[in-house]
Amino acid sequence: MASSYWLEDGHTELRFRALAGRPDVVVIGGGVTGCACALALARGGLSVRLHEARRVASGASGRNGGFALRGGAAPYDVARSDLGVERAKRLWGLSERFIDRLEELAGDAFRRTGSLRLAADEAERDALLAERDALAADRFAVEWVETLEPPLADHFFGAICHPRDGSIHPARWVRRLAVLAAGEGVELREESRVESLSELEASEVVIATDGYTRGLLPALDAAVRPTRGQVVATEPLSTRLFDRPHYARGGYDYWQQTPDGRLVIGGWRDASLETEYTSEEATTPVIQSRIESFLRDVLRVRAPVTHRWAGIFGMTADRLPLAGRVPGREGLWVACGYSGHGNVLGLACGELVAASILGEPADELEVFDPGRALG
Ligand SMILES: Cc1cc2nc3c(=O)[nH]c(=O)nc-3n(C[C@H](O)[C@H](O)[C@H](O)COP(=O)(O)OP(=O)(O)OC[C@H]3O[C@@H](n4cnc5c(N)ncnc54)[C@H](O)[C@@H]3O)c2cc1C
Repeated sequence: MASSYWLEDGHTELRFRALAGRPDVVVIGGGVTGCACALALARGGLSVRLHEARRVASGASGRNGGFALRGGAAPYDVARSDLGVERAKRLWGLSERFIDRLEELAGDAFRRTGSLRLAADEAERDALLAERDALAADRFAVEWVETLEPPLADHFFGAICHPRDGSIHPARWVRRLAVLAAGEGVELREESRVESLSELEASEVVIATDGYTRGLLPALDAAVRPTRGQVVATEPLSTRLFDRPHYARGGYDYWQQTPDGRLVIGGWRDASLETEYTSEEATTPVIQSRIESFLRDVLRVRAPVTHRWAGIFGMTADRLPLAGRVPGREGLWVACGYSGHGNVLGLACGELVAASILGEPADELEVFDPGRALG
């Protein structure tokens, strides 16, 4: 019960070769970021060892809502005013490209469904319409849904549809990435926690530990705040209520129906914001009862809850990831702090950091420059 539904997916035994001698690169963390980075580095010809404290995908990558969304944690119109039009466009374009990349690599762990963000009140409706207008002005595909079906019609005031978004089975996807990485010669050391950077023998080290980052680099611990998200899954429903991921209240609440009919629903962190800034991977009655009330009273779902779990993600002050070279530390790289929006950006940042290490730095990394928080 207190485990992620996604992590029950048949565990693939990871077969890999142990490296003889010192690797070119050590990657710390076996989630989407670390596995994507390791795979890209190995494909680029470097020898790579990846250390994962538990099993591949045991962190946020195997515990999340399964939404593959474009963009960052902020809505597009907000990103435009925070970052400027050109940088926001570049970030959204990057994320769309990496949803395509995810589709290419993930097989049946990805479905191109689109996503629906609902307006919970008139103010959110106005905000979503502003986002719709900004996306359309910059020629990103977007649709407005005015008429919702029951039971949503009784509670929400229209929705913005992002047609190129998708749904993933996150644990299956990340294990698939790990299998690809192992096939390219990456040494995948599970149950292998790195206690200190000084124990590592490699000229390049990548920290890919998102909200689980602790004790490796004090500046990173200060810049990335561990934040808990809680989720439940139900028994399969007899009817299909939702054909794509739905989210509401600025992304605080989210749910989707899996291909086998279960409802996976999470969020309501704002019911107890301060206690949810924690690295303790535990569910709490306050948040769980909010999720369950919504399930019963709003979505009118009666199916029993079969799984309850928590995961930790890393929040940054500006809600953008920190990805790139750590200032003042030769050979040290970081990719984390996705602020709850890392399924697509984790893949992107993992691959972009790998490209930099391989001597092909992409301009797109500039917006994630860790120097803004670690400098
Ligand atoms: C409840 C919840 C719901 C979410 N929903 C969504 C969503 O729907 N869409 C979305 O885009 N994002 C979502 N996110 C965010 C997303 O899951 C993360 O941003 C993403 O998975 C980060 O991947 P990662 O590989 O960077 O980190 P993780 O998957 O967290 O992996 C980090 C790994 O590092 C390991 N580690 C830590 N320290 C060490 C060490 N010292 N040595 C060795 N290994 C170590 C950990 O064990 C862990 O496995 C959600 C997050 C949570 C918690």
